Amino acid sequence: MKIKFWGVRGSIPAPGPNTVRYGGNTPCIQVINDDKPDDCIILEAGTGIRELGLAIMATKKQPKIHILLSHTHWDHIHGLPFFVPFFVPGFDITIYGPVHYEKKLSEIMMGQMDYAYFPVSEAQLSANITYTDLKIGQNLSIGGYDIQTHHMNHPITTFGYRFTEGGKTFVYTGDNEPRSNFQVEGEDSGEEELDDFVEELNNLLVEFARDADLLIADSQYTDEEFSTKVGWGHSSVSHAVTLANKANAKKLVLFHHEPMRNDDQLDELLESGIQKNKELNNESMEIFLAKEKDEYEI
Ligand SMILES: [Zn+2]
Ligand SMILES: [Zn+2]
Repeated sequence: MKIKFWGVRGSIPAPGPNTVRYGGNTPCIQVINDDKPDDCIILEAGTGIRELGLAIMATKKQPKIHILLSHTHWDHIHGLPFFVPFFVPGFDITIYGPVHYEKKLSEIMMGQMDYAYFPVSEAQLSANITYTDLKIGQNLSIGGYDIQTHHMNHPITTFGYRFTEGGKTFVYTGDNEPRSNFQVEGEDSGEEELDDFVEELNNLLVEFARDADLLIADSQYTDEEFSTKVGWGHSSVSHAVTLANKANAKKLVLFHHEPMRNDDQLDELLESGIQKNKELNNESMEIFLAKEKDEYEI
């Protein structure tokens, strides 16, 4: 199993000389199974998917394309109208994502191709495009992988994905904030019960990531930043390192970089993650920072 990064930045693209080392594109990750070249699995459709589309075109082949979305916030879908295989006859593309109470996945995705936002209409997409609305708890089997979903903590229904194949496991959290009971802090009644419930939910996530050979985790904030951003739906580096430790992950890749952060600041962020890991006395887990075009083999 190989995992390749095409976009690593959260919230909004951040191009320019200050982000050139790690990259400025929003989330897009390719999950490659060399034994199944007829399937192309893509996690997220941030702006990184544009270049991946060009790379697919350059192969002159037409694999079946599966795009798995953690959720439909802009930074996870706004590369899609620029994904060239959409416009090419013969491509078979399925988009998977969590179902929402208000709108179907297809409505959300095509909403961004309305003439108010984009000059090319949906009718001009020549590929065969289908949508699969995923329900909480629904699992998948694609391209030789068993894929489990997990309901994450974010302001819209968001899924993490766990891929298993040939005894290897890769887990992706998508956007996620550790659950807390901050909503009722200070209230007298039921707090202890709620604490237990919150702990149980966080433990379910640890089990979801259990023994991952590679864990890609939201780590948008420093600990300091997180204290002013509780409820925004993201984790700090400490949260990511703690999750990976509890789950006994072998490798952790910090992901969904804050757009304000330049390359040197990202280096510092990685260092803080390594320090946190030392505090937890874990010398066996390796920590990396997601970087465009980097590839991991597990
Ligand atoms: Zn995001
Ligand atoms: Zn989001």
